Amino acid sequence: MSLVVQKFGGSSVADKERIMNAARTAIRAKKAGHQVIVVVSARGDTTDELIELAKEISEHPPTREMDMLLSTGEQISIALVAMAILELGEKAISLTGAQVGIVTDSSHTKARIKSIFTERLREALDSGHIVIVAGFQGIDGTGNITTLGRGGSDTTAVALAAVMKQAAEVRRPSSVVRGGPTELQDLADNLGDGPRTTDVACDIYTDVDGIFTTDPRLVPDARKLDVVSYDEMLELASVGANVLSSRSIEFARKFSVPLQKRSSFSDVEGTWIVPEATWMSDVVVVGAAMVKDEARVAVIDVPDRPGVSHKIFAAIAAKNIAVDMIAQNVGSEGKASIGFTVPAIELHATLRALESVVAEMGVRIQSEEGVSKVSIVGTGMRTHTGVAQRMFASLSDVGVNMKMITTGDIKISVLVDKADGVKALRAVHAAFRLDQPRPGAGLPIAEVKTGGSGFERRTIETSPQAKDDQDLLSRLSHMEDIVVSDVALDEEQGRITIFNIPDQPGNCTRIFHAVAQANIVVDMIVANPAEKGRSNLSFSVPIADLQRTLEVTQQAAKTIAPDIVATADSNIARLIVSGIGMRTHTGVARTMFGTLAERGINIAMINTSEIRVSVVVDRSQGQNALEALRSAFGL
Ligand code: ADP
Ligand code: ASP
Ligand code: MG
Repeated sequence: MSLVVQKFGGSSVADKERIMNAARTAIRAKKAGHQVIVVVSARGDTTDELIELAKEISEHPPTREMDMLLSTGEQISIALVAMAILELGEKAISLTGAQVGIVTDSSHTKARIKSIFTERLREALDSGHIVIVAGFQGIDGTGNITTLGRGGSDTTAVALAAVMKQAAEVRRPSSVVRGGPTELQDLADNLGDGPRTTDVACDIYTDVDGIFTTDPRLVPDARKLDVVSYDEMLELASVGANVLSSRSIEFARKFSVPLQKRSSFSDVEGTWIVPEATWMSDVVVVGAAMVKDEARVAVIDVPDRPGVSHKIFAAIAAKNIAVDMIAQNVGSEGKASIGFTVPAIELHATLRALESVVAEMGVRIQSEEGVSKVSIVGTGMRTHTGVAQRMFASLSDVGVNMKMITTGDIKISVLVDKADGVKALRAVHAAFRLDQPRPGAGLPIAEVKTGGSGFERRTIETSPQAKDDQDLLSRLSHMEDIVVSDVALDEEQGRITIFNIPDQPGNCTRIFHAVAQANIVVDMIVANPAEKGRSNLSFSVPIADLQRTLEVTQQAAKTIAPDIVATADSNIARLIVSGIGMRTHTGVARTMFGTLAERGINIAMINTSEIRVSVVVDRSQGQNALEALRSAFGL
């Protein structure tokens, strides 16, 4: 039998009409022969209002009590939706996160799911009920109510779809795990012996028709995407497309859940989030996004030696704060500087976390609020040249200065003044012609030369390695653990560094324009303000192009200011750690930096993203670093 998880966001249950509408949608799916789980968010702006309410009482409310308060929003919704379905004559039951058995860690206000017990859900479904589950909440090992972070109802929905799908694929768990660890034993018992659901899909209903090339509220000519890959969506969500929580996509990808974002107000086909297909690499940029309220932190006078970045990022990760852009300047005279961004609301906690590091290492800290991050994402970036240049040129054309630049495998992010944020987003959206129809966004994919791996809805296969029962059970019992799948060593890149570029619009563009004209593929880019209105810029290129890149860079630099120095370094190695949810799982960076520090390996450049973290080290340390990281991540 097939199962559908339908998630209704806050706007889709905001008033009586919409609640009835959600109820009818669920009943339609039931009548079409599916088992139905409905996950709901708090109505309208309830969560924001509850946060305001707490602030009236306390400036920094204890997070445990915050969760107690915030979880009430979803509890109201589930009761109302269940009543609506009952009113329309179908069987329904509402369940809180705790009642469903969504067990999380104890990290209040941003808890992670550890496991989900499906017994009660299954019983209710098998007895013909539509089950209404409160999104965004769970319970920790000692019975405290927890919440999963803003937008967490998406995570609940996809996690439920994932667990039901995986449970369905476990054939006879008991024979395999008898005598195994208690945790697995419990899980196996909880799966029960009932009929297995095989076909599971997840529809996320909202107030827009799907996922757009950027936020349609900010850029009216944004275009709806028909399809986007898990990786692209992960990156988009992590750089500010709040249309889906990044952790929900992490689950969808990890457990191969077919996911559709669609409108609860119309029957228009939504956006499908699917595994990557070959045709996607023809699309250079799939979307753009902005994080409006960021804060930049600069750690200055950092001793340029192993272990220092580890101390800084371990202190922040220990507070479960996900660092955003990281740009580490190449050291000179034994001192380096490390710049990074965090969400503005995390600045206070970040600065507090760094107090001990300041005292111990004598570094200086500067911070700045009122900055926004604008990013572009696209699979085609891996293979096309001149993408960075086009983005930077579009910004300098509208007079926007870039305060920091970082890149990932399939994304480029720049930090700008908050006042320039929307202008910058519109400029990059136009520069990549994202308002125009193209395959996957208004033109049928069949018309593209697909190389054979087109996209077919609802027939997406589970990854073959996930078939082993023991493996499935252990994955289920660590649902939201970090997945690091690979560590690779790249010795084919060289680095260009340019010191003292005046911080003005257009300067970086001139450099990248020259490099793009020479048809050179730029990989990592890191630009970070140094001091006194100057920035340092580093980027990597294929080693075979290094000398040529240095020449064009030097020529371009001369046109900016005579005292700019550009250097080339062929003595670097890059370590690439790939996985899912790498940035939001603060533990990945911590493990990475800690491992390299233990081996006395100095980090010269860092790039982070949800699917890939890269660090540059001295060439002589490459192999050593590779072995260390492989063993740290159990590969
Ligand atoms: P819900 O309450 O249904 O969870 P959200 O507010 O979380 O809804 O997400 C829907 C909103 O996300 C839309 O109204 C839209 O303004 C905003 N949004 C931001 N980026 C995008 C994007 N790339 N595509 C579509 N919507 C986006
Ligand atoms: N109600 C929560 C929030 O506003 C969870 C959600 O809507 O997904 O963040
Ligand atoms: Mg949402």
